[in-house]
Amino acid sequence: MRTDDDSWDITESVGITAVGVAAMRAVESRRPDALFRDPYAERLVDAVGSGWTEIMRGEVRSESGRLYGPMGAVLIARTVYFDEYFHAAAADGIRQVVILASGLDARAYRLEWPSDTVVFELDQPKVLEFKARALGGERLSIERHEVAVDLRQDWPKALRDNGFDPAAPTAWLAEGLLRYLPADAQDRLFAEVVALSAPGSRMALNIGRDQRADSAEIRELQARRSEALAAAGITVDVRDLWYSWEGRSDPRDWFADHGWTVTAAEPADVLTGHGREATDVSRPEMNRHILMTATLGDDN
Ligand code: SAM
Repeated sequence: MRTDDDSWDITESVGITAVGVAAMRAVESRRPDALFRDPYAERLVDAVGSGWTEIMRGEVRSESGRLYGPMGAVLIARTVYFDEYFHAAAADGIRQVVILASGLDARAYRLEWPSDTVVFELDQPKVLEFKARALGGERLSIERHEVAVDLRQDWPKALRDNGFDPAAPTAWLAEGLLRYLPADAQDRLFAEVVALSAPGSRMALNIGRDQRADSAEIRELQARRSEALAAAGITVDVRDLWYSWEGRSDPRDWFADHGWTVTAAEPADVLTGHGREATDVSRPEMNRHILMTATLGDDN
């Protein structure tokens, strides 16, 4: 069960979810027709070790098939979508990037950034430490800052202390984060992002479509995923990691109400738009998720 000030490393609690996403990125990167290549994902997952390497190789299955089957399709779509979001932001002159809940995201290393780009990665201290150790010695063509925080607490101060410039337009990302925050912390995080955003800033995020995210069907899927993880020696009940949907605002409304221009996308459309079939097996899972970007106009 979650508590207000719980913390974790990469092998426990919410930290584990970052490994699951990286494992899927590693799997996708190996495909001949990969929609993106993350050359760091496999190394990061191998560095976590036991159980995860087998999951990455597809050797661990849940009752419904590959452990990250339909969810894998969602994760691929969102990786592609947010990669393109950053490419567009860079092309439009944004040079400050903040990745909230960066986990094992290696975009600072793998995307082609203009050389004067500054990337801030925010996550729990032990998660950041793990990634720094695992990628130690990797060369970076841009400036990257690790900001160790709890995103339910006063992270803006830590971000500023690390050199964030609130006067410069920023491309923000909250990928795979919001369900791990209580509803009030989600709204607070949005308000803090807005307060730190110069005109021209952008926000990108993903979230479940609606309260169906708390349904018996999803709980059942999560239980099966936990069992499959247990079979690989990874102990976590993923049902315990999410905060309730109740009282949670819809980010599309929240940002629109605060004067941002919001664009939403369907994961299935992202996949098919890139020539990847959205199968009947993965569609129900994809339909539970929404991808969103928002822009703060220069005239605000
Ligand atoms: N964004 C990364 C990606 O898509 O690969 C990681 C996503 S992973 C599903 C969730 C991440 O959110 C983990 O790295 C976890 O440590 C981070 N996270 C969740 N709640 C957090 C909090 N309160 N403070 C800091 N990090 C948090």
